[in-house]
Amino acid sequence: MHRQGLELPDHLRRLLDQGNALRSGGYRGRFAPSPTGVMHLGNLRTALASWLEARRNGGVWLLRIDDLDTPRNSPGAKASIQRDLQWLGLDWDGPAIFQSHYRGRYYAWLSWLRRAGALFPCRCSRRMLLDHPIYPGTCRMGQKRWGWQDKRLPSWRLRVPDDDPHGSGDVVLRRADGFVAYQLATVIDELCFGISDVVRGEDLRASLPAQFSVYAALVQQPPRFLHVPLLRDQHGQKLSKRKASAGLAPLQDAGLDAAAVTGQLAASLSLVAPGARLTARELLQDLTHRSTYVLDS
Ligand code: GLU
Repeated sequence: MHRQGLELPDHLRRLLDQGNALRSGGYRGRFAPSPTGVMHLGNLRTALASWLEARRNGGVWLLRIDDLDTPRNSPGAKASIQRDLQWLGLDWDGPAIFQSHYRGRYYAWLSWLRRAGALFPCRCSRRMLLDHPIYPGTCRMGQKRWGWQDKRLPSWRLRVPDDDPHGSGDVVLRRADGFVAYQLATVIDELCFGISDVVRGEDLRASLPAQFSVYAALVQQPPRFLHVPLLRDQHGQKLSKRKASAGLAPLQDAGLDAAAVTGQLAASLSLVAPGARLTARELLQDLTHRSTYVLDS
């Protein structure tokens, strides 16, 4: 892969080759929660859907913890995520992957993209961009000053061609606070871990154009995506980890076991009748015998 004649360094090329080889070996899915709090039932329902798709396809299912945004990480969340998945019998393959272990890798990509001229520094404030759902290109033509100015660092944006069909605008790949942006990290991870299929919540559909633009910039094929509807509370509101929407604990305290909770989650996806009790493995067996089903609420 070249960008304006700038060859990809060998170690990055090897990572891509490894990822592509893994991906061509069959279904590889992943669940990628951010450790911002205890998982609520909506997160767990999405995890169940993602696990079911991977297992139904005889595939691999990875657990990736998106812990790059350290100020938003909540103590104990990494452990509680793993505990809750295990309790429900949603087993993942290999050790959990922590994005924070791969910071060097993301920075290597950033630095290559920057040297290849694919990025530009942007000093627009959030407020300046409020009226623009798509970045209007304000800093594209500015001078490439990457350092501090007025006590602030710029964000690094990917220059996305105006005729790009995804309509993402110029995507931020490194935030002004210095953190690697989710849009870059997730794309690099899907590629390097050879993910063929992403099943995640409907709320992340909005990030698809940005991610497609990053795949295009890296001249790589995106995985397939399936977005499952979000579970809502009785007022139709989205559940939120940060607002501490209820997770497993109250159900466990009320004496429910994994089969009862899995039955509830599966019923809310219309996979089984309300009141059903079955473990994740039993649900998988059940679905394997059906010709079609729709992951819908
Ligand atoms: N870590 C992101 C989140 O929990 C999701 C990543 C993804 O599934 O693409 O919102």
